[in-house]
Amino acid sequence: MLAFWLLGVILKKTKGNYRYLPKARLVVEKHLGRTLNPDEIVHHRNEKKNDDRLENLMVLNGKAAHRRIHNNPESLKPGDVIFDGRNL
Ligand SMILES: [Zn+2]
Repeated sequence: MLAFWLLGVILKKTKGNYRYLPKARLVVEKHLGRTLNPDEIVHHRNEKKNDDRLENLMVLNGKAAHRRIHNNPESLKPGDVIFDGRNL
């Protein structure tokens, strides 16, 4: 388990099935109290992929929304942001 953790990935058992998921997803899932859908993308605000502090994370609604925040955060549309670590 520790080895997976160090790689930024953990092994999680959900409904009897094991799955690998990036630590960032687990951090947000714990906070939201639910499992993220595959099309909910976790974004690292400071772009450091190993900085999985909740306040550094955002959840975006789909790949297009994720692309928008990287290209130009001003271009985000209503509904793009599912979770924003800045609003804790
Ligand atoms: Zn991103």
